[in-house]
Amino acid sequence: MLQTAGIHHITAFVDDAQQNVDFYSGVLGLRLVKKTINFDAPEVYHLYFGNEGGSPGTIITFFPYSNSRKGTIGGGQVDTTVYAVPVDSLDFWKKRLQSLAIPYEVTSRFDETFLRFDDPSGLRVELVERAEGPQSQWSYSGVPVEYAVKGFGGAILSSVSSKKTIHVLEHILGLTKVSENNGMVRFRSYGNLGNVIDVNTEDACWGHSGSGTVHHIAWRAKDDDEHEEWRQFVEQAGFHPTQVIDRQYFNAVYFREPGGILFEIATDPPGFTRDESEEELGTHLMLPEWYEPQRDLIEQKLPKIEVRELGGQQ
Ligand code: ZN
Repeated sequence: MLQTAGIHHITAFVDDAQQNVDFYSGVLGLRLVKKTINFDAPEVYHLYFGNEGGSPGTIITFFPYSNSRKGTIGGGQVDTTVYAVPVDSLDFWKKRLQSLAIPYEVTSRFDETFLRFDDPSGLRVELVERAEGPQSQWSYSGVPVEYAVKGFGGAILSSVSSKKTIHVLEHILGLTKVSENNGMVRFRSYGNLGNVIDVNTEDACWGHSGSGTVHHIAWRAKDDDEHEEWRQFVEQAGFHPTQVIDRQYFNAVYFREPGGILFEIATDPPGFTRDESEEELGTHLMLPEWYEPQRDLIEQKLPKIEVRELGGQQ
């Protein structure tokens, strides 16, 4: 049976682009690995943040629409994006968030401790210590590699029909149920990042898409051959996958699972060095070739953004 290694990327709507860069690079210390545009709306950025190379399992992507309507987090969405940090680093992160005046709560589930806070658009983010997963080699804005975010620990999913979502996780994505407790079911994949998925067992009311909500969650396929197998498998299971769509840095197939969450299956290759060297990732505005003739106009319309250090206590 097909099994995904875990989360490939998570894509969300946010408000201001500079605020978005300041939070994910300036506060969390992630690398802006790709600066491109929404291929369906070229006046809007598509920003990708991850570890030093933007490995699958580390990538969060954003469409920043300035002054856009705020969404409501709810059923049919990723409720919380969970980042893995190295063991013994939560104290560092507590001090860092305090020094940057970002309020957080300490919560726990399945015997793990989470630092929980919101990004500037209201997306829910958590940090959890995990031994598994390679250490990030990217140090930025006062976050040393020994405390750097490794990538996704996983996510909390909120479903309008949690039994159906759970069925898809087990029988389509090939995740393994490992625990159930306090209204949450925990699944794991065989990967070492983006590999722990918690699902609220209580059915939630529908969320509303908008700023501060996740648009979709993408799951990893090893290569194009496996990707095609996934597409057929999803279709045979009675869902309605799209055709394969070229997203430049991976190929994508989308389907909405019956609990309302938009799922994508995305290929690990070709990755972000397809059009920029590893040293230069995220430093140029990259456009697909069909937009190159309009580059000047597109650059004029996009707001200026800058990756900048915010400091914070070290
Ligand atoms: Zn995607």
